Amino acid sequence: MNKPSIYGLTLDQLTEWLLEHGHKKFRASQVWDWLYRKRVTQFSEMNNVNKECIDVLEENFSIQTLTEHVRQESKDGTIKFLFRLQDGNLIETVLMRHKYGLSVCVTTQVGCNIGCSFCASGLLTKNRDLTSGEIVEQIMNVQLHLDTKGQDERVSHIVVMGIGEPFDNFQNTVDFLEVVKDHKGLAIGARHITVSTSGLANKIYEFADLKLQVNLAVSLHAPNNELRTKIMKINKAFPIEKLMDSIDYYLEKTNRRVTYEYILIRDVNDHKAEAMQLAELIGDKRHLSYVNLIPYNPVDEHGDYQRSTPEAISEFFDTLKKKGINCGVRLEQGADIDAACGQLRSKQEKKKEKVK
Ligand code: SAH
Ligand code: SF4
Repeated sequence: MNKPSIYGLTLDQLTEWLLEHGHKKFRASQVWDWLYRKRVTQFSEMNNVNKECIDVLEENFSIQTLTEHVRQESKDGTIKFLFRLQDGNLIETVLMRHKYGLSVCVTTQVGCNIGCSFCASGLLTKNRDLTSGEIVEQIMNVQLHLDTKGQDERVSHIVVMGIGEPFDNFQNTVDFLEVVKDHKGLAIGARHITVSTSGLANKIYEFADLKLQVNLAVSLHAPNNELRTKIMKINKAFPIEKLMDSIDYYLEKTNRRVTYEYILIRDVNDHKAEAMQLAELIGDKRHLSYVNLIPYNPVDEHGDYQRSTPEAISEFFDTLKKKGINCGVRLEQGADIDAACGQLRSKQEKKKEKVK
């Protein structure tokens, strides 16, 4: 039987588990320090932890359950990792270099059931949720890769924007956030972490109540129900009014700025009229809003969708600006290595199909 990754436990959960197994509370802090500060990958290396404790941990947990399958490095320093899970499934994780630090994009599910019409991940329906351990391990593997380079580089930012819908795997995502934020471990600041959702309004309420101080991004992509339903079928379950109500609640509870992601697809959602409508939609909360305009990254599977022209992108941006909306155009990274959500994995899965 495969043992779960110990990275999946929050410090409280590890403490409780060790107490239940007859070990002292302080062992949890020691083990935690070895895992996240000294970053060993064998329990036997934890040389201030007694043998009985090491044995019981070894019997019940693994440290590493992921293996690296493919690594692609882009000219701009972006690295894309394709990891194999214990059950053979493949997931992808991306490391990006920014002026402000190193950011990692993690995957939360194998595939995705939301099925947005423009997304490579949505084509491969969900096979399963990742455990919290498998999500933390993506960060740890990237950090361990950086450690081997000996340049003292640290993962400083996290975006939960890889394959999958994090709010459709809510508890594991929350446990993951608790682990990476913990100041005794990786201590990645909550303000440096962003979770992106396709707009599961019911979960936005729950997320607001947790007061995690983590940033929220909402994939809006269209300013009215007719268009949004066409490209994101989740809009039928959570239409724009319901989504906006949940965002109002989130703003009230947290007073934290929300990012709206808006991919610009040529002649689909990139007209001036849509920019005006978008400004109208978020105008009353513009002080706590930021619109991230993302030029669409074409994927083989959706040949009918193209990237907006540079002129359309600037006009959209200018229209929002004139209406007093904070916004920016996301610069592309790793375009030469299929860095768009789900693209590399989707290609690898197709290769597997061909081999079969
Ligand atoms: N499921 C979550 C998080 C993962 S997707 C969500 O949908 O928000 C992360 C972001 O990438 C989303 O905003 C998504 O709409 C966007 N995206 C998906 N496919 C894309 C593509 N081909 N080009 C540009 N952005 C894309
Ligand atoms: Fe799933 Fe997000 Fe892709 Fe939509 S955009 S299919 S929610 S991963």
